[in-house]
Amino acid sequence: MAYTHVAVPVTIVRDLPPEELRFHWKSGRLCLDFLATVGERWRRSFERLLTGEDLARWMVETGMVQSAPAVSGSQLAAARVLREAINRLARPGLEPEPDDRDIVNGWAARAPVAPQLTAEGKLAWVGARPVEAMFAAIARDAVDLLTGPLAARIRECSAPDCALLFVDASRPGRRRWCSTEACGNRTRTKAYRRRRKERA
Ligand SMILES: [Zn+2]
Repeated sequence: MAYTHVAVPVTIVRDLPPEELRFHWKSGRLCLDFLATVGERWRRSFERLLTGEDLARWMVETGMVQSAPAVSGSQLAAARVLREAINRLARPGLEPEPDDRDIVNGWAARAPVAPQLTAEGKLAWVGARPVEAMFAAIARDAVDLLTGPLAARIRECSAPDCALLFVDASRPGRRRWCSTEACGNRTRTKAYRRRRKERA
């Protein structure tokens, strides 16, 4: 059973501990990992992209940008707009707003970062305007996901205290957790303790 949360508006919270600002890479998709730059969408919905440097750091962590690009205030604002549009389009149970498709389509029509073969036979990603090229890559990934066979496999983590989205690529299609090690075990342990308490 999917645990669907209502949309909580994203808020800026100051002085968050560093562990709350860490990015998550559990979904298996670029566009869904981007949505996880908001923390605790089930409760507080706090912003992890507080500055342009945060967005640059996220882009470097994707492995698709070699060095941290300079990110302007308007680029940061555009990133948040694109992210929330994808969130409403992808999250089971949410209704998109009228402009959401245009926002995603607009970025998807731009040139994304391109994979290139280096002299050492390695993969390098290049883009003349790396920030916009990353928005294009994220938007294209969202279009690809939402129109492909995995669209019906987008799930919200079943843990009541987690709202990460992931793609269930398992054959039976019964994956429940963003991560079994984290959310699966934590939720099972809590349920076990609750049952023991009830019996005692
Ligand atoms: Zn989870």
